[in-house]
Amino acid sequence: MAECKQCGRLVTGDEIGLTKKLVNRGAEEFMCIDCLAAYFRVTPDLLREKIEQYRRMGCTLFASK
Ligand SMILES: [Zn+2]
Repeated sequence: MAECKQCGRLVTGDEIGLTKKLVNRGAEEFMCIDCLAAYFRVTPDLLREKIEQYRRMGCTLFASK
């Protein structure tokens, strides 16, 4: 189990994947979607769309549903 390095909340597999995708492929510290949104100055909804987009592209960082 990993925690958000900003707020300490447990992060999901998608949030771990998103951190790796957006910040650093080799990241060992992760951020939750809200903190990632604040970091990149976008809305959490936009990041959720991004996750779905990457998932549809078959990106291995995001588990298929
Ligand atoms: Zn957070």
